[in-house]
Amino acid sequence: METIRTIAWMKEASRKARGEGRIVGLVPTMGALHEGHLSLVRRAQQECSPVTVSIFVNPTQFGPKEDLAKYPRTWEADLQKLEALGVDSVFAPEPSEIYPGGFRTTVHVEGLSERLEGRSRPGHFRGVSTVVLKLLEIVQPHMAYFGRKDAQQARILQQMAADLNLDSEIIVCPIVREPDGLALSSRNAYLKPEERRAAAVLHRALDAARTEMAAGARDALQVQTVMRRVLDAEPLASTDYAELVDAETLEPVTRISRPCYALLAVFFGGTRLLDNMLITPQESGELRFDL
Ligand code: AMP
Repeated sequence: METIRTIAWMKEASRKARGEGRIVGLVPTMGALHEGHLSLVRRAQQECSPVTVSIFVNPTQFGPKEDLAKYPRTWEADLQKLEALGVDSVFAPEPSEIYPGGFRTTVHVEGLSERLEGRSRPGHFRGVSTVVLKLLEIVQPHMAYFGRKDAQQARILQQMAADLNLDSEIIVCPIVREPDGLALSSRNAYLKPEERRAAAVLHRALDAARTEMAAGARDALQVQTVMRRVLDAEPLASTDYAELVDAETLEPVTRISRPCYALLAVFFGGTRLLDNMLITPQESGELRFDL
């Protein structure tokens, strides 16, 4: 496994692979790798060779009061995990390589970036879209793999790829969860033991919404109320949002008649966790739930 630090070297490696007719895959991460990240790597390896994993804690997607400095960094353990999977290369540039002095250009996906996460974290998606566009330009993957865990992010990146006629396909993969349903996240490491136990409420809220809809509920407010009730019953949880939104526009829905997401953002102490469920109406009139 190669560790690549410079843009020039990364571009050259990808150019060579493409020249040999190989299918290049990219898994962008911020490190602190867990099974969620590794599931993306395995999927990429089924479809691509070579597979590059980028590890870059992108400063521009963190707000001034956010956790950039204390974001978990587990470099040696990350390399071991990727080596064990047989990843071809790790692209781990320094921030100055990605953002040299005088850097001025950013990407903003209008209309999808301001709501939900964007409202709570202004500028976050501008940082994400910009760094992902740069990574796609540098690695030139045929396919780039992202988790549905960050559903709004994945939707924004798909829109960016379509709008800018990018050659890379954005592939969205399922959420990997702990046995109690908590979605794996690098930020779970911040939780105190009692907060970690409480955090299972995210999955319980989605599960309660699923039960309500499986019993016939199609009114978004009714389903949101059910999620709120479950979240409000957990004293250590403080809900930022619990919404049902259209899967394409990310606008709030009133009735569940098209694919939509139930999206949750909830604080446990200073730690903000996300979760979601994709709800897809079937021809039979029943709903399919991807949790
Ligand atoms: P991050 O390192 O947090 O930027 O995440 C890198 C990628 O891993 C993103 O595409 C995330 O959506 C994805 N990811 C994070 N957690 C999970 C999870 N529990 N299941 C699946 N994918 C995940």
